[in-house]
Amino acid sequence: SLRSRSIVTASRRITTLRFASTLVLTEHDGGSVKSSSVSAVVAARSLSEDNSIAMLLAGSGPSLQEAAAHAASCHPSVSQVLVADSDKFKYPLAEPWAKLVELVQQKDEYSHIIAASSSFGKNILPRAASLLDVSPITDVVEISGSHQFVRPIYAGNALCTVRYTGDLPCMLTIRSTSFLVSTEARSVAAPISQVDLSTFNEDIAGRSRYVSHSTQDTERPDLGNARIVVTGGRGLKSAENFRMIEKLAEKLGAAVGATRAAVDAGFVPNELQIGQTGKIVAPELYMAFGVSGAIQHLAGMRDSRVIVAVNKDSDAPIFQVADYGLVGDLFEIVPELIKKLPEA
Ligand code: FAD
Repeated sequence: SLRSRSIVTASRRITTLRFASTLVLTEHDGGSVKSSSVSAVVAARSLSEDNSIAMLLAGSGPSLQEAAAHAASCHPSVSQVLVADSDKFKYPLAEPWAKLVELVQQKDEYSHIIAASSSFGKNILPRAASLLDVSPITDVVEISGSHQFVRPIYAGNALCTVRYTGDLPCMLTIRSTSFLVSTEARSVAAPISQVDLSTFNEDIAGRSRYVSHSTQDTERPDLGNARIVVTGGRGLKSAENFRMIEKLAEKLGAAVGATRAAVDAGFVPNELQIGQTGKIVAPELYMAFGVSGAIQHLAGMRDSRVIVAVNKDSDAPIFQVADYGLVGDLFEIVPELIKKLPEA
């Protein structure tokens, strides 16, 4: 394995806090909490035996209240749900959100603040950390103590153990693929309370402006949570040929992914990109067609349970991480696969 572990700071013994209190920055959409935020609760749970976990939601209107109700019962470990209901949070802009985190932290003094490493969390948490004057730890994949975390470095080629020795709060983003959400829910909903926004300072909030939001309207599973991902690379050669990957994904009930080269060539939209500068996935089955296996791509999929690769070049680096590799022409193999698979 290419992986190695190193202890970066070793000044203190591993500590496990008996008591911790954690604020989870919660993303919601259409009246429900995103599963990546529930993963952040799962991560929070492993920080200490007795962790009081509060989920913070911001937004406005009925969908916020619905999402709050969902948060209150989404995981047995949630102790409290905090809701910031205001037009200022109509869109999840980083500046007002970061300011909100500062406001809540000044009042409640959490020992930890966690968000999933999604666009939402990556946008807000570092700004909030800067307002609170602490250094965040990003992309955590394992929690080995209340202040000791494992995170990938060198595009996922090594895992590094980091001990946090700074001031509280200790702020983290976690990779949701490493903290799996079970189906257990709370039988009795956690209490929901409103954040007092009377002292919310609007000065900083006005610096960014919402322009628009576009999502792909598709029946396919979400790339981040899919059990199977079928990915196409530059080897597909055109947007038209890429439809073959979509067809295969449909038959398998899989999500579609792409390399950066395929995105840059305009075969598919940017949101399908997997890798260091795209999405991180860890499905049960990852199928790569016409993908060379560049290190930046591997950074986004190497934790997949089973990796299947089809490439006409037997020396392609993707074969070094593949469990099953087939050297051949994808233009023959993919149509044959589609033909042989039963309808989904
Ligand atoms: P190529 O490397 O061109 O590979 C195409 C493959 O298709 C080849 O192996 C070829 O043998 C095979 N092929 C061709 N025709 C056929 C056929 N008929 N049948 C079977 N096989 C065929 N890349 C990412 O994917 N995600 C990222 O997040 C990302 N971030 C990056 C960040 C930085 C800072 C940089 C510098 C690069 C990043 N890249 C990323 C780009 C990365 O380095 C590679 O360029 C990219 O992953 C290559 O994509 P590819 O495998 O589709 O294309």
